[in-house]
Amino acid sequence: MKKDEVIQLEHENIMQTYGRFPVVLVSGKGSMVYDIDGKEYVDMTSGIGVNSLGYSNEKYNNALKEQIGNILHTSNIFYNPKTVELAEKLMKVSGMSKVFFSNSGAEANEGAIKLARKYSAEKYGEARYKIITLKSSFHGRTITTLAATGQDKFHKDFKPLTTGFDYVERNNIEELAEKIDSSVCAVMMEAIQGEGGVFPLDPEYVNAVRELCNEKDIALIFDEVQCGIGRTGEVFGYDNFGIKPDIVTVAKGLGGGVPIGGFMCNEKFAAVLNKGDHGSTFGGNPLVCAAGVEVLNQVINDEFLDEVKSKGQYLREKIMEINSPKIKEIRGAGLMIGVEISCEASEVINKAIEKGALFLTAGKNVIRMLPPLVITKDEIDTAVEILKEALEA
Ligand SMILES: *Cc1c(COP(=O)(O)O)cnc(C)c1O
Repeated sequence: MKKDEVIQLEHENIMQTYGRFPVVLVSGKGSMVYDIDGKEYVDMTSGIGVNSLGYSNEKYNNALKEQIGNILHTSNIFYNPKTVELAEKLMKVSGMSKVFFSNSGAEANEGAIKLARKYSAEKYGEARYKIITLKSSFHGRTITTLAATGQDKFHKDFKPLTTGFDYVERNNIEELAEKIDSSVCAVMMEAIQGEGGVFPLDPEYVNAVRELCNEKDIALIFDEVQCGIGRTGEVFGYDNFGIKPDIVTVAKGLGGGVPIGGFMCNEKFAAVLNKGDHGSTFGGNPLVCAAGVEVLNQVINDEFLDEVKSKGQYLREKIMEINSPKIKEIRGAGLMIGVEISCEASEVINKAIEKGALFLTAGKNVIRMLPPLVITKDEIDTAVEILKEALEA
């Protein structure tokens, strides 16, 4: 197939829900990807924070091949060793007590919401069901996780959404305290808002939220779908604040490229969901769990995470050196960086594509970078040089 043919077939056969960049990717190695004409790009997107180990990672690919050779899928009415291996590893690195595996971030958040509601309903009655989330958050595209997402632009045309959600300004503890009444069962937030523009929360705010939730026996849910599993140089985004949530959701980077998600909880919530309360056909099947195990094996160690931090710092410094009047702010942590600019992000990104680097947007004016965690400083140099040229063009 030729590039134009692929694009035409996409237009003809796939619902036009994505504003795709005109790049047809067919292979990758490390942090470099190649299009159908053999052109090379530095990848600062990693499939939106998914391909943490980059492309063609030998150990990762071998782990998947071995699992395919053994058994791909079994269903959750039987046990399998890979699923429990991943679960045990996740509990170890998170300090949580139990996990439920899903296939995506949205589903993980759906499960977290069900868990928080059931805990509250059993203890306080069904009138205590409300979940408070933050404005400019992103929690997924299902009808319920859309309701959790604090951005009107995603809600339009899909109403009525699931009821029982309310939104507050991030980093405003007074507003949150005011909203918390006898109808609230949970507060849900991202440590660093990803899709919403790469906005990190204030540590004092997060600590105050933790205290407030403790006081009122309200579930504190952290959506770590984008900023978790080593992305910020810590295992989880909330580790940057020194707190522990009650419920944690993960997806994207956990699988390194296969669809996996999960929600985990501490001991307090561990026995809330029981037989028949939740389920998934594919959730945590042997293939995706083999992938997850290999991702954790490679990512979750001090040396690797320190590298993520130092490469993130390096990336920041390099962007600062661009010294363009178009750059208004650089935000984020580790290898999750947002660059707010004074012009349209997608225009700059299109120019960067021509020069051989891929970037993400986060809203209209933010260029978002979520490179593979294995990216090298040389590759960062190339990407930033291209960004500089694209900003000047
Ligand atoms: C991507 C994302 C989701 C949704 O995950 P899907 O796998 O696309 O359903 C939820 N929360 C956050 C913070 C995300 O970045």
